[in-house]
Amino acid sequence: MSGFSASVCLFCGARPGRDAQHVQAARETGAMLARNHWRLVYGAGDSGLMGEAARAAQAAGGQTLGVIPTHLMPRERAGGARNGDGRAGLVVTETMHERKKVMFTNSDAVVVLPGGAGTLDEFFEVLTWAQIGLHGKPLLLLDAGGFWQPLVALVDHVIAQGFAEASLRALFDAVPDVPALAQALERSLPVAGVAGVALEAP
Ligand code: AMP
Repeated sequence: MSGFSASVCLFCGARPGRDAQHVQAARETGAMLARNHWRLVYGAGDSGLMGEAARAAQAAGGQTLGVIPTHLMPRERAGGARNGDGRAGLVVTETMHERKKVMFTNSDAVVVLPGGAGTLDEFFEVLTWAQIGLHGKPLLLLDAGGFWQPLVALVDHVIAQGFAEASLRALFDAVPDVPALAQALERSLPVAGVAGVALEAP
């Protein structure tokens, strides 16, 4: 396989979590992206679900683009680049904000796997960008085992309490497993791929 038809930004935990199904889902996601010729854009870490997804994508011959700030290199990229076959690009940024922006602008869609505070920050940042009309990229939560149901309930609660428009809920979708994720991406990704849609500085 050479090249890629579209790019998918993956936000997910730098830890593996306690439930092995999430490690499995991260591996399946990486392999699924490679199979579909979709480039994986991720936080360049070797650890947790991030590392699992990237290694699976690379092992399946997929392209990856890792984006990491200098100060996180020792912590999240302790193992260094894992493949030197030219399929794994790496961008080093100065700041976390720059990292998020580079990941986002080089992607056609955003997928969120289970994760912690960093993943939540990333999800809410791109959700708020969508809310104020800065982009219309697909935003998909991989809800394996119902992991994201508390988040969906929180968003519903915020809407019910009058702190957001009901339309906020339509800006993202939760899918139950990797096959459903692949179908959702298939439906929503542009045929030719982006990326590079400029994001106004928020
Ligand atoms: P976590 O979900 O906490 O494991 O973090 C997942 C990824 O999000 C890691 O690569 C973190 O470096 C990153 N991250 C943590 N905090 C932030 C932040 N404020 N902005 C952007 N990324 C972050």
